[in-house]
Amino acid sequence: MWNGSRRKFLETTSVLAAGSLFGSSLLAQTPLGQRPQQHKSVKVLFPRDRIPMTFIIDDSTCLVNMGHFCIPQFHACYPNREVYNKPWYTFPREIPDSFVREFGEWCAENGVKGKYSIVPYPSCVGWMDRELPGWSRKALQDSLKLVRDLMLPNWDIHPEMITHTRVINLKTGRPFDEISPATMENSYPQEDKSVDELAAYLAYALQILKNCGLPCEGVTTPGGFGNKVKPKLSLAVQQAVRDVFQSEIPHLFKYVVGAGESTEPSVEHVSGLGTDDINLTVNIPAGTGDWFGGWEGDVTPQPDRYATEDASSGRLVELIEQGQPGFFLCHWPGMYSNGTKNGFHTFQRVVNSIHSKYRDRVYWMKLSEISRYWAAKELTEIKKNGNTITLNAPFATTNFTISAVSTQASPQITAAQKQIALSEVRNRSMLKPGTWHRDGKSSTLCFDLPKGKTTIRMA
Ligand SMILES: [Zn+2]
Repeated sequence: MWNGSRRKFLETTSVLAAGSLFGSSLLAQTPLGQRPQQHKSVKVLFPRDRIPMTFIIDDSTCLVNMGHFCIPQFHACYPNREVYNKPWYTFPREIPDSFVREFGEWCAENGVKGKYSIVPYPSCVGWMDRELPGWSRKALQDSLKLVRDLMLPNWDIHPEMITHTRVINLKTGRPFDEISPATMENSYPQEDKSVDELAAYLAYALQILKNCGLPCEGVTTPGGFGNKVKPKLSLAVQQAVRDVFQSEIPHLFKYVVGAGESTEPSVEHVSGLGTDDINLTVNIPAGTGDWFGGWEGDVTPQPDRYATEDASSGRLVELIEQGQPGFFLCHWPGMYSNGTKNGFHTFQRVVNSIHSKYRDRVYWMKLSEISRYWAAKELTEIKKNGNTITLNAPFATTNFTISAVSTQASPQITAAQKQIALSEVRNRSMLKPGTWHRDGKSSTLCFDLPKGKTTIRMA
C-alpha cells in the first residue's frame, strides 16, 4: 500500500546517496554485521552474469479485493486525505481465482518470477486459515490450493503483516478500539518497540500462512510499517521467519529506491559466520514505484515509465543498461483494474518489450532465490594462493558466477573430492552452470556452488 512513507524514504536516502553513483542507502540504515575475507582479484558477479529480474506484487490475498476493503478503513483514520475518498463501494469486492489463474499461467509460460503477498486477515474481512465471511469455506480452500499449486513454484509468498489496515492486539486477536495512525499497520509503531515485540507481531502473521500450508521465507511490510524502527525490524524479520519456518535465509521487502541508488539487496545483521548457526536478513528493494493500476486498482497505468514499447527508455531499461537488478513493483488490485485487467495487459506489454530486447541478458528469480544468491555472494570466503582459489561457502547456491584473472587451460573445480566439469562457451550470454568463458583479461566461471569448501585451479 502506497501511503507516502516509502516516498519519504526516497527523499531521505537521496541525500545520503549524494556523491556516489550508487549510494548504499539500505546499508546506511541497518548494521551489516560480519563479513568474510574476499580476495580482491576474484569478483562474484550476478547469477550467469545476467541482470536479475523480479516482480514484486503487494496487496494480494485470496479473493478479497484490498482496493475495495482497505479504503473505508483508511478513510476512518485519515478523513481529509483525498485518495481515501475514492468510491470504493463501486469497486468489485472480489478478485476472482480465474484471474489468478490467467495471471499465474501467463507468468509461468513467460518465465516471470517474483513475490506474491497473501495478507492473512485482509482488512479484517476474515482469516485465511479459518473462515472468510462472504465466501464459502470451499471457495477459500480452493483459492489457497490455487496459490499453493500455481503460484508457489515461481513466487515467494509473504504475509503483508496481519490485516494491512488495523493493528491487531495479539492478546485478543481483535483490532484495537482506537482508530489513529498508532493503530494502523501502515504507520505502526509510532513509538519505540523492542525486537521481540516486533518479531511477535511478524510471527503472528507468518503462523496464519503456515496454518494454510503456505511456506514463507520472508515478509513484506505494508507501507510505512516499521519506519521508526528500521534496524530492529530487519532483526525481527530474521527472528520471526526462523522461529515459525526455520528458514535458513530470511528476507524482507520494504524499500523502494530511486534513481542513482543501487537496487542490489543488502545482507544485514550477519552473526555466527564460521559456525553452523549463521544468522542474517536479506533486504531486497524495488527499483520502481507502482505505475500500473495502483493499490486502489483504478489508476491509469503508465507502462512506458517501466519500458517503452521498443525498450529504448524507462526505469527498467535504465537499470538493465546500468547493470543493476531490475526489481519492479505493483499492487494486485492494479493488475486486475476492477475487472478490465488493464494493469495486467500493460504489464504483459512491459515484459514482452524487455524480453524482445534483453531476453538473453536477464534472469528471472523469486525473492528467496535472490536472497540465497546474495547470501552466498556476500558471505563466501574467497582466498587466492598462486593459481588456486579456495572458496568456503556457508550457503549453497545455483548459478554461482565469478570472474578471475584469465587462464589458458580450462579451470579445474573440485568440491567434496568431486570434479565439477566446465565446458567453454563462446558467448557470455551462453553462461549457465557448468560453463566458463574467457575474454582478453578475465575468465568467467558459472557453476552450482555447494556448501563448504570448493577449490578452483586456474592454471
Ligand atoms: Zn501493501
